[in-house]
Amino acid sequence: MSTRRTFIGRVAALAAISQLGSCALFQPTRFDKDPFTLGVASGDPLPDGAVLWTRLAPEPLTGGGMGAGAIDVEWLVARDEGMKEVVRSGTYRATPDLAHSVHVEVGGLEPDRLYWYRFRAGGAESPVGRTRTAPEAGTLPRSLRFAFASCQNYTQGYYTAHANLSREDLDAVLFLGDYIYEGTARGNIVRDYSKRGWSFTLADYRDRYAQYKTDRDLQAAHAAFPWIVTWDDHEVENNYAGGIDKDDPHNKFAILERAAGYQAFYEHMPVRTPRPQGPDLKLYRSVSYGALATFFVLDTRQYRSPEVALCREPEQAPSGYCPASLDPTRTMLGTEQRGWLLKGLGDSASPWNFVTQSVRFAQQDSSPELGKHVFDGVDNWMGYAVDRQLILDRFATTKNPVVLSGDSHVNFVYDLKKDFGDPNSPTIATELLGTSISSEGDPFVEQTQFTPPAKNPQLRFFDNHRGYVRCTLERTRLTADFRAVSTVRQPTATVSTTATFVVDDGIPGAHRA
Ligand code: FE
Ligand code: CA
Repeated sequence: MSTRRTFIGRVAALAAISQLGSCALFQPTRFDKDPFTLGVASGDPLPDGAVLWTRLAPEPLTGGGMGAGAIDVEWLVARDEGMKEVVRSGTYRATPDLAHSVHVEVGGLEPDRLYWYRFRAGGAESPVGRTRTAPEAGTLPRSLRFAFASCQNYTQGYYTAHANLSREDLDAVLFLGDYIYEGTARGNIVRDYSKRGWSFTLADYRDRYAQYKTDRDLQAAHAAFPWIVTWDDHEVENNYAGGIDKDDPHNKFAILERAAGYQAFYEHMPVRTPRPQGPDLKLYRSVSYGALATFFVLDTRQYRSPEVALCREPEQAPSGYCPASLDPTRTMLGTEQRGWLLKGLGDSASPWNFVTQSVRFAQQDSSPELGKHVFDGVDNWMGYAVDRQLILDRFATTKNPVVLSGDSHVNFVYDLKKDFGDPNSPTIATELLGTSISSEGDPFVEQTQFTPPAKNPQLRFFDNHRGYVRCTLERTRLTADFRAVSTVRQPTATVSTTATFVVDDGIPGAHRA
């Protein structure tokens, strides 16, 4: 019962195998060790399906332990948790060139309903995962429940946020980057990596992803809901920016590192994207939920211009921006992705339009002096102010635009202004920026701030707990609950809501519920 997509996938896999020549099919009757140590996942839901993911890795922390052969993996999708009423099934050939990962693009399912899935190989059975298809195009679901999260440094905290996230009632999870951290353990370390060095090679990145994915709480959050994933910098290297000049021989190392990082990302994520081609992986895409919402999932790393060096007075212009940040030849998204986003926002019939991406979008003044301005966020959208203004201009005619972000390791709610340079400029959109799952550990001093600071009246909320943001979207309103865990220094924790913000249909800007 193979769908067209999985059939093509198999043909492609077989073609890849025949090219490799030496890659013989290896079909053990029995594994000595459990090959499903990394759990299961699903993602990128459509009205008729989703991507189902696993990776065979009986030795997860040391290369996987699968050897050089290919292996056929059976997959099953059922209407019930007990996997009795199977509605789709098939076989996927997992190959060593993609670390024996499995990406089944299952189709033929019914819209807007739960399904359960599992994998079998060599006599072993995976855990059962649960997924949910999107509503049919044109139909208006009563609500959409989702959470968004980011920044899960493994060494700086236990995944108590994921344990609590997995118990929420959600249709989907959006993950906005820093799924892994490529470096060595630093800061407040609660657990260390088994392979401690920096990640540079494909083998390094694979083992790093595998260590993250052995965490039971992370596995539970993947098994509970489909995820819609993008990346930030640490999937390759801290604060990297595009940076790949294929014609520059001195840049060869960066090309290899980015290629390794992108391939390992693909191998470990339930994404509906073409497989990586060297250092390139097309990740930006949109996901729609019926006639209610469209998520524009951006890639803010692969195509961005090199970051500007931090500039200080006297170089700093009176605008508060480094001159290079205002250079119209510099770009955050690249011309192709930027054109796709602006057209997508312009064409969208959805009443709610989410720009789902990794770094802070709003302007924030970091000068301590009232009469002065410093907009020095060179790694976020302040460093690419021209691209940001093009999107803000488009937001003026977009229905209910909401930016979802991560990266800052704290919670922020911002009014997005049509023109950040004008204090009387109208609010035209809202940014909800979510805190980290674990990165930076427990706050030394807990802070929750509702009063907008004088320097930054666009900032409606600040909070420094670890956690995630839970959202309920209805036709007339978006409700966002900022969920905080009691600790990440212990393996278990409680969760509570530190604040609830609401965006009403047609009224840009969030207000406290
Ligand atoms: Fe981070
Ligand atoms: Ca980051």
